[in-house]
Amino acid sequence: MTGPTGLPMRVPLPGLPAPTTRVTVYEVGARDGLQNESGVVPLAVKAELITRLLDAGLPVVEATSFVHPRWVPQLADAADLMTSLADSLGDRARDLPVLVPNERGLDRALELGQRHVAVFGSATETFARRNLNCGYDEQFAMFAPVVERALAAGVRVRGYLSMCFGDPWEGPVALERVVAAGVRLLEQGAEQLSLGDTIGVGTAGHVEALVAAFDDAGVGVDRLALHFHDTYGQALSNVQAGLRAGVRTFDASAGGLGGCPYARSATGNLATEDLLWFLDGLGVEHGVDLAAVAATSAWLADHLGRPSPSAAARALAPQATTTTIQG
Ligand code: MG
Repeated sequence: MTGPTGLPMRVPLPGLPAPTTRVTVYEVGARDGLQNESGVVPLAVKAELITRLLDAGLPVVEATSFVHPRWVPQLADAADLMTSLADSLGDRARDLPVLVPNERGLDRALELGQRHVAVFGSATETFARRNLNCGYDEQFAMFAPVVERALAAGVRVRGYLSMCFGDPWEGPVALERVVAAGVRLLEQGAEQLSLGDTIGVGTAGHVEALVAAFDDAGVGVDRLALHFHDTYGQALSNVQAGLRAGVRTFDASAGGLGGCPYARSATGNLATEDLLWFLDGLGVEHGVDLAAVAATSAWLADHLGRPSPSAAARALAPQATTTTIQG
């Protein structure tokens, strides 16, 4: 039972932020979610998804990736999508973050006047080679001109770092290794570093230890975001650890969009609904309309032809679609 308002009872937890503390939910469903979907979602559906998520109050909605279409055909329409969004949303579309894997991607983003980009690095050698087609050290050489040129153009840069808690080929990843990679991205000019648990193996103590290791290296929590996957059911426990450690930006994907490409699990990205329910219960402000996000996920589930893996998204799904998605 969700109660008449579809919201949990607000009961702060000692040791966690006071009720007035605000958290930024960084929505990645349209990019990180859709790039991991097996099918290609039509441009009009993507545009409506992004618009509905903005209307729900999400403060940051990452829109797409200017990766080569051969690598990620799901996002081959990146330029057309951003043009369409600029038509419908106006100048606001320029501030939606877009991923740029290299200088060519940055060129495409700059041509469209985008003002917020992200680069995507790996904490491990193997994942760099498999996902970026270059070595661990080479990736920083690839990012350097991207970040430099973006900053020179007045464009904000976020740095993603994947495999921060474990790597499917290399196993556990040492804290020092993650810190070393993250510091390099920040020193290149990224304003924020999103630490990704790409295979979802991290647990709460590991999260606190990693944030502490960054603090020891002079990187404060204000520069960090956490990007959890629910592969092993640990995402919200890890968010709680991140909150305790002082992190105030968490990535999430509407409806838990995007499975896990490296594990036989339906659950990949932490679902935005699960995160919002958790934050609402703690009385942590986020400014997002949970019901509107849940309605959006139910609408998208109909388009994808399968239910959301998110428990909260399914529990909150509007009645009209529950018969479809609980089948
Ligand atoms: Mg992810």
